[in-house]
Amino acid sequence: MRTVNVSELSLRYEAVKRTLPAEVTLVAVSKTRSVDEISALYELGHRDFGENYVQELRIKQPALPGDIRWHFIGHLQRSNVRNVVPFIHLIHGVDGPALLDEIQKRASASGRVVDVLLQLHIAREETKHGLTPDEARELVAGWDPNRWSAVGLRGLMGMATNTDDSELVRAEFGKLAALHRELKNQVPDPQDFKTLSMGMSGDLEPALAAGSNMVRIGTAIFGERS
Ligand SMILES: *Cc1c(COP(=O)(O)O)cnc(C)c1O
Repeated sequence: MRTVNVSELSLRYEAVKRTLPAEVTLVAVSKTRSVDEISALYELGHRDFGENYVQELRIKQPALPGDIRWHFIGHLQRSNVRNVVPFIHLIHGVDGPALLDEIQKRASASGRVVDVLLQLHIAREETKHGLTPDEARELVAGWDPNRWSAVGLRGLMGMATNTDDSELVRAEFGKLAALHRELKNQVPDPQDFKTLSMGMSGDLEPALAAGSNMVRIGTAIFGERS
């Protein structure tokens, strides 16, 4: 296992934090990072961590402090919902009623309300997951507070196209922010529909410019993934 260079980690972490306005939540994306690397960032005071893979998260979560807020940012299979619901802070990747039904079932069994974001497909790549804007509108218009009483609808998440075309990235984030404003007037609890999760290491600046209030940063904090 790689040993952690704490002073380098601290420098990168502080540099990222300096670029963020106070109201923006920083989720440190810790996929592929060791428990030691996550612990080192925890010791620097960080509490929000994001993981993409349930198998990895299930190993790390019990090995790390209980006050970490774990964000699930990957594609969540229905069969894996029960493995994260007991402890997850926020599920960013919800893409339809079937997944919501499974979260509802497992959350009510755990006696929790589980907070979620709807993931929008705003990028050009077909490999990225998420709802189209019309599907998101339809889901929100048909939101049934009784059917999903153990689910907290907190906002939207999206990933821009991985490209050097900064105009395209700006347009994609702009569309997501506009949809967030639009849907805020349609959801059952507009006060709670506050989160707009967009922006990673490579597109942080345009995401913030478009109004992101939650960014998911891996590489800029931990260094390149091997
Ligand atoms: C890996 C990942 C990130 C972080 O990417 P970096 O480029 O390392 O900052 C953010 N969001 C999602 C959904 C990811 O899968």
